[in-house]
Amino acid sequence: MPTKSTEKLETFESFNPTTNSVLGTFLIIDEAEVRRSVSAARSASKQWHELGFRGRKKILLAWAKVLIERIDECGTLISQETGKPVSDAKLEATLAIGHLAWAARSAAEVLRTQHRKPGLLMANMSATVQRSPFGVVGVIGPWNYPIFTPMGSISYALAAGNTVVFKPSEYTPGVGLWLAATFAEVAPFENIFRVVTGTGDTGRGLCESGVDKLAFTGSTHTAKKVAELCAKSMTPVVLECGGKDPVIIAEDADLKTAAEFSLWSAMSNAGQTCIGAERIYVHSKVAEEFIALLVQGAKNIKAGLPSEANYGPSTMPKQIPIIKSHIVDALANGATAALGGIESVHAPYVDPVILLNVPESSIAMTDETFGPTIAVNKVRSVEEAIALSNASSYGLGAAVWSRRHGEEIAAQLQCGMVSINSTISFAAIASVPFGGVKNSGYGRIHGPEGLLEFTYARTVVRSRFKLPVVFTTFKRTRFADKLIVGLIKSLHGRSVG
Ligand code: NDP
Repeated sequence: MPTKSTEKLETFESFNPTTNSVLGTFLIIDEAEVRRSVSAARSASKQWHELGFRGRKKILLAWAKVLIERIDECGTLISQETGKPVSDAKLEATLAIGHLAWAARSAAEVLRTQHRKPGLLMANMSATVQRSPFGVVGVIGPWNYPIFTPMGSISYALAAGNTVVFKPSEYTPGVGLWLAATFAEVAPFENIFRVVTGTGDTGRGLCESGVDKLAFTGSTHTAKKVAELCAKSMTPVVLECGGKDPVIIAEDADLKTAAEFSLWSAMSNAGQTCIGAERIYVHSKVAEEFIALLVQGAKNIKAGLPSEANYGPSTMPKQIPIIKSHIVDALANGATAALGGIESVHAPYVDPVILLNVPESSIAMTDETFGPTIAVNKVRSVEEAIALSNASSYGLGAAVWSRRHGEEIAAQLQCGMVSINSTISFAAIASVPFGGVKNSGYGRIHGPEGLLEFTYARTVVRSRFKLPVVFTTFKRTRFADKLIVGLIKSLHGRSVG
């Protein structure tokens, strides 16, 4: 929230959500300043590109080293701004560093110029596809994983040869500026990676600033605004949005492990994980045993201060009434609580809540709750679980627990990522893409696809020698016409499959 107007730019404060104390005061970078930042980043982009893969790799790996050396500082800062335990914050940072190093090391191989076959008709041509960085990439990030999430775009965009302007969430501006400060320690020149702090208006300014690509991570609601704004200037976007991730527990699942992992997926980080479990579909034959294990596990975890509890507060105060409304709506529509209930919500904390038999039409099943609650519904078959999983408007991640049928089930799910007999693990594997379908967004970060996302394909064809017969001039003869039709007939005319 803007608090005062000093000098030229307004400022806002960031708070520690556990104590409500002010952590810092930050500038609300306005539209004109955002444009200046983008223009500065543009002035650096040619030099950054010309460093080549090897030059950039050296710098990005040096940055990774600085981040590792200062991981305690990073963990403390994230914990203060989000309220999560320091150990969770450090885990998040290690994963982000892993992605940075992978992107730095893999860019040359993934983005190398490729030679393609020209085909018989164009046999005299060489055909190549180059990958070109866009120029300046704008990155807009959320607060729930303030280093891991934006670095999924920043690392890959930089490694691909773009300069970056990053707008962190107004809840975690300190982490954003800390990232820029650590990069500055290894940067060979200025303006390769800039941070613009501020509110939603600053994000809007970034969308309209003339960046060459915009990578957004946040809610579906804001993503649609971002896509609309960017469409006006034909700025390409990658949108990483919310989810309502299902977990399928088949009859042959390892129930103990499934309960332990699903509980962590749903409740860790106070349930503020885009790929966290929100709905569990468990086969009725094993439901009682699974639910008992889940409830037993949940009784042993608690919300509270980062130094004392398994997870912290809801970082955004405005999420509390949303979480409460989901519980109220589910219970009013016939669900029962196996653990907790409305009384579990005591701002800024929410104790673990496990709801059973939640009507599929209730908001606890249709909308992202983003709190430490989980809905568990029994199903009569795996087919029913798959159909209910796919009935969501979201399609981000999913988890499948089955000893024998995991891959078969996974193949039928409409989502961007699935873990079999595991949870969330795809986010920690740098070599695989991350992203969703439907309301969960489009485009991919991480992995080779994440590097490709921050480049565009440039086709370059070259004439190697002259053919006796030419097709692409006004001097084309009737013989050439006949030849081309004859050739295409003999090449493809008889093909049936
Ligand atoms: P929001 O959509 O509220 O905000 C995301 C970012 O967009 C923030 O930096 C915000 O700034 C900025 N913003 C707000 N309004 C605008 C606008 N009009 N134009 C441009 N930018 C704007 O999301 P949250 O920060 O609350 O993050 C939580 C959401 O992110 C959840 O839905 C979660 O599922 C999703 N998420 C998705 C991930 C994925 O990879 N798929 C990963 C992590 C989270 P400000 O904070 O200043 O308002």
